Amino acid sequence: MSLTPFIAMQYAVDIVNTSEHNSNKIAACLFQDDQWVAETNHRPDIFQFHFTPDIKFGQSSQFIHSETACIFNTPFMTEGAEICITDPPCPNCAKAICEAGIDHVYIDHKGLGKDFVQRRGDDFESLSLLVFEKAGVNVSIIYRKEERLEPLITPPVATRKGSAQGIEFFDWDDDTTLRDYLSKFRQRQPHTSWALAKIREGNKYLGIILFEELTNGLTPRDYAEHRQRSEKYRLPVDPLNRILYFVKRKGMTIIDNEVAVNLYPSSRALVNSVGFGLETIHIGEMKPDHDDQGHTAAQMIEKTGILKLIYL
Ligand SMILES: [Zn+2]
Repeated sequence: MSLTPFIAMQYAVDIVNTSEHNSNKIAACLFQDDQWVAETNHRPDIFQFHFTPDIKFGQSSQFIHSETACIFNTPFMTEGAEICITDPPCPNCAKAICEAGIDHVYIDHKGLGKDFVQRRGDDFESLSLLVFEKAGVNVSIIYRKEERLEPLITPPVATRKGSAQGIEFFDWDDDTTLRDYLSKFRQRQPHTSWALAKIREGNKYLGIILFEELTNGLTPRDYAEHRQRSEKYRLPVDPLNRILYFVKRKGMTIIDNEVAVNLYPSSRALVNSVGFGLETIHIGEMKPDHDDQGHTAAQMIEKTGILKLIYL
């Protein structure tokens, strides 16, 4: 039997108070047919052994947001799935949801009235909703008691389910190492930001390369307009984050931690990589992707042995 959004939202509400975050406890439930996964915003277990919750890695907290945690922990393809969230999603999670190919976002009506939203509401209204609308993602408010839905965004049918852009595949040659591929692609595209991974499709290995991109439907003009409004959030998606969302979208598996990036990853991308379960990342050059605190974050994480960074 397929889950209804009312049941899925209840699964999120049931666990929200278990969140370790002391000011913003948030939970989400990602579901598709009768399968589901629910997560709170939380720190990966491995961080809990080494750090107190207040410590930041560069620009990023240690917490994986609940929506992103659902995407990383789902055992099923996220494409075409739906997600219930106790609170309005931040712009980074909005981008993650679009990249993961999720069709419908449900927000609990109680979440819209919290202090948190009053503080961060601008980002939700000006950025998260923009990202959803352009990508063709439905957004509804849920009233659990009355089992009522109120549509917030209903995109025109013509814009739904666009495919992700800025992605290339290649046949993985077993005699060529990840390091070799990193080096080869840098010769082709020396200064853009991209990520590369070895994946399995059926019984053969493929390489996948993803470039930094705006989420589906957003234009460079949207980006230019947005830049004047907000310093905190960028509209493009880091290629390292993109690759993690894309493999979950398609139900693919990354083989042997074989992931490389051209430019130095951001603090948030590094934290997300740990949340995803990566243990190693190959890095092409020290120049930051966009966040010059990525190096600081990396040093803190590397010292514990949680993540190994290998430089070309
Ligand atoms: Zn978020």
